[in-house]
Amino acid sequence: MKLEARGITVEGGGCHIVSNASLEISAGELVGLIGPNGAGKSTLLRALLGLQPRVGGTVLLDGAPFESFAPLERARRVAFLPQDRAVEWRLSVRDVIMLGRFPHRNGFAAPGAACEAAVDRALALVDCQTIADRDVTVLSGGERTRVLLARALAVEAPLLLVDEPITALDPYHQMHVMEILAGLARSGFGVLAVIHDLALAARFMDRIVLMSRGGVVASGPPAAVLDDAALDSVYHIAAMRGEKDGRPWMLPWRRTGQAETE
Ligand code: ADP
Ligand code: MG
Repeated sequence: MKLEARGITVEGGGCHIVSNASLEISAGELVGLIGPNGAGKSTLLRALLGLQPRVGGTVLLDGAPFESFAPLERARRVAFLPQDRAVEWRLSVRDVIMLGRFPHRNGFAAPGAACEAAVDRALALVDCQTIADRDVTVLSGGERTRVLLARALAVEAPLLLVDEPITALDPYHQMHVMEILAGLARSGFGVLAVIHDLALAARFMDRIVLMSRGGVVASGPPAAVLDDAALDSVYHIAAMRGEKDGRPWMLPWRRTGQAETE
């Protein structure tokens, strides 16, 4: 399964907030979408899922326009963790994760054994079995992030798009979520994750798509995309770097200039 976005352009506030951006995600790869705050990452994700109007571009799922699939069919094929973690309803953790099964369920009938099993798998994956009965509105920010990730995982869609899945997590759970995403990719899922942690991006991603000011400015293996020139021109930072077990590591070290203000 393959999702291709070509030439996506989104307007907001009288200008282009995403401009002619293209990316693709295929089965079996973990792709990182990175870029400074306000680069347009969340807007691009929302526009390619049809959650935000675009003024240009096409989105293809296995070569067919994404919009040609019925909404539930789209939801079964592409799961999404939005950046916004607000949960207004006082549901239990388990019930929130069960919402991820909605595209597989027969209307509002009680969930069947397959749905219960998928929720159990998702709960176990994110290490949340012990809080399954807790009211989701009382959770810590990191716990809520893991529960909402579990909701997206419970869809068991072949493609998974996650917007900042490790923000607000402690280092143990950051590493754990990166391992979950890499494990999904190894077992044949296509995963696109927006993350800010360049060290974890360099370590875990198969490919990185770098955005700056609404456009995609580079795409490729982490070491090629996160070179010194890109870190300087896009992020205005310099990093220390090396290699371990055949993978590049990097540690953002100092600022080299001033970030643009909007
Ligand atoms: P990122 O996820 O990369 O941090 P976003 O996609 O959330 O960035 O936002 C990109 C830019 O577009 C930001 O400067 C944001 O303020 C702006 N923006 C997002 N949505 C709108 C909108 N509906 N109208 C005007 N500006 C918007
Ligand atoms: Mg964002």
